[in-house]
Amino acid sequence: MNGSTDIRRTQVAIIGGGPAGLLLGQLLERGGVDTVIIERRSREYVLSRIRAGVLEAGTVGLLREAGAGERMDREGFEHEGTYLAVANRGFRIDFKRLTGGSVTVYGQTELTRDLYEARDASGRPVLHEVEQVRIHDADSASPWIGFNYQGRQQRLDCDYIAGCDGFHGVSRGSIPAELLREFERVYPFGWLGILSPTPPVSDELIYASHERGFALCSMRNPRLSRYYLQVPLQDSVEQWSDRAFWDELRRRIPHAAAESLVTGESIEKSIAPLRSYVAEPMRWGRLFLCGDAAHIVPPTGAKGLNLAASDVYYLSRALLQHYRENDDHGIETYSETALARVWKAERFSWYMTRLLHRFPEQSEFDLRMQEAELNYLESSAAAQTALAENYIGLPF
Ligand SMILES: Cc1cc2nc3c(=O)[nH]c(=O)nc-3n(C[C@H](O)[C@H](O)[C@H](O)COP(=O)(O)OP(=O)(O)OC[C@H]3O[C@@H](n4cnc5c(N)ncnc54)[C@H](O)[C@@H]3O)c2cc1C
Repeated sequence: MNGSTDIRRTQVAIIGGGPAGLLLGQLLERGGVDTVIIERRSREYVLSRIRAGVLEAGTVGLLREAGAGERMDREGFEHEGTYLAVANRGFRIDFKRLTGGSVTVYGQTELTRDLYEARDASGRPVLHEVEQVRIHDADSASPWIGFNYQGRQQRLDCDYIAGCDGFHGVSRGSIPAELLREFERVYPFGWLGILSPTPPVSDELIYASHERGFALCSMRNPRLSRYYLQVPLQDSVEQWSDRAFWDELRRRIPHAAAESLVTGESIEKSIAPLRSYVAEPMRWGRLFLCGDAAHIVPPTGAKGLNLAASDVYYLSRALLQHYRENDDHGIETYSETALARVWKAERFSWYMTRLLHRFPEQSEFDLRMQEAELNYLESSAAAQTALAENYIGLPF
């Protein structure tokens, strides 16, 4: 943080120093628009969160444009396909052959670190450990944010406020309840995830549907693997020893993968609930919602972080159009444009979740439908193409 920076006025005040806030800040700074980012947590805390790892080409392009793509280009891994497995037998979906596209495996932690370094280089501030953040007059021409920073009450005046403060932030709740519509589905299970300093079991991700529940084999790099198991919501991390985790994973993935799985001591273990959620609209006056502040997807389609990036794309373009061309068309249509893409990613994440998990209320008929859908996917290039084009990311 640059302590001498004026934090009384800026053009765009950004609440939240996660991927959405940092990426937006970089794109605007590079376009000549002044920003201040305020973040509730310390930088160390933000960088210790283990989350997403699969980047769509659009996200990769934006990171390069933000001047934060160099290490990703060097250390990220291009994946040209993925495996789906049903009852311990796998088949591959070839993204490259079906769509010409691919995804990049690069951890959210690394990406966030790169964005912080790019921010540092720009000399503009991220104020960490701010408290009592309040949005004022967002529906007027003179919005401002009040917050406590280093023991002092601060007022930050601005032209616009970007609410990039995640699902539990203050921005969404600042929109009057009578104007906000919320759409939600909470799933009756969670994902138990571990990070393991062992080589990944496969060169590409394996999404496994099994009668015992879903499993995912993912990775961060050649020495770091990320594995997940579908578990009941009531389970706690303490119930799952590393050994129990590895045994259960072996039962759910293809036999060949189970045999070659390298196990070790986990270095992180957590359970995440699964939820689909959308808030409409994504703009109220001069306040914009961006990323998880406006929507949540279950991680089955690897869309959360990528959706935050596509919101940032639309919002950065809209604000640059305002400042450069005095044209507010992008601002006026931001909510509508962003939501059109959000709903498609919500649909895909819901579809993948429904396709691959066991649901407590599933009837025999539902199970047969799931089986038929997976069989169809295995045998039909058309069905695989539809999955692949959504997985690699719909165009912005
Ligand atoms: C446990 C977990 C696992 C996940 N796994 C995956 C995955 O495998 N694949 C995938 O695609 N996505 C995954 N996601 C989703 C993905 O991480 C998010 O979609 C992504 O982080 C969204 O970025 P964001 O910047 O919008 O929100 P966030 O990353 O949540 O950042 C918001 C920031 O705002 C800050 N903040 C909150 N309130 C305030 C306030 N009042 N004032 C100031 N700052 C505030 C927060 O501290 C945070 O740093 C996962 C999410 C979680 C929680």
